[in-house]
Amino acid sequence: MEAKKSIRLLITRQNDLHSPSYEEEFLVPYRPNMNIISALMEIRKNPVNAKGEKTTAVVWESVCLEEVCGSCSMIINGKPRQACSTLIDKLEQPIRLEPLKTFPVIRDLMVDRERMFEALKQVRAWIPIDGTYDLGAGPRMPEKTRQWAYELSKCMTCGCCLEACPNVNQKSSFIGPAPLSQVRLFNTHPTGAMNKEERLAAIMGAGGITACGNSQNCVEVCPKGIPLTTSIAALNRETTLQSFRNFFGG
Ligand code: SF4
Repeated sequence: MEAKKSIRLLITRQNDLHSPSYEEEFLVPYRPNMNIISALMEIRKNPVNAKGEKTTAVVWESVCLEEVCGSCSMIINGKPRQACSTLIDKLEQPIRLEPLKTFPVIRDLMVDRERMFEALKQVRAWIPIDGTYDLGAGPRMPEKTRQWAYELSKCMTCGCCLEACPNVNQKSSFIGPAPLSQVRLFNTHPTGAMNKEERLAAIMGAGGITACGNSQNCVEVCPKGIPLTTSIAALNRETTLQSFRNFFGG
């Protein structure tokens, strides 16, 4: 009789931010077309490790399961990725799962991405609209601009680009590629452009655009294929022009 196939997972575990991390191995029954989340769900159903010992269920975060919310980011076989869209059949085994290292660990594979959300607040990554009344149709964007702006709007704050960036770490205040790209997106919007100067000012100080070291790792790992390095280059031009305007009082 053919032996039942198993998936071998090596998972980095940690009880909380201050506990030491350790690795635990699991064997999960194989089914075709599984993603990482479905393997983690199998462990949750039956939290027994590869030695046959009863253990605690592995903790991770996920919401949409369709690569839109960005919450299930983790390091899968050494690369920051989304657990929902990473298929077991396409991975080499053993499959190693680790939490993102750029963000504080909450537990096991779940991290606190607050750093990114704070950066989005810092750069005012929204369009201010007062009131709940009907404002009518907004200004139209040229179709060509709308097309590339739409690509930037696909950012799901997953944090993979921050994880891949050597300049984003616990010792640096660099806000990272995703919040920078959102500055370009909101400054392009006809209504959002009203706050363009504030957004540029927010990235011209410490932790802003000059902290980018141009390693270009971000664009390699973005699951949404967002042209992050193009955004950063465009913002370099914009901030240079803004500094001239500031100097000459224009
Ligand atoms: Fe994730 Fe890409 Fe957004 Fe970075 S830019 S947070 S990698 S979706």
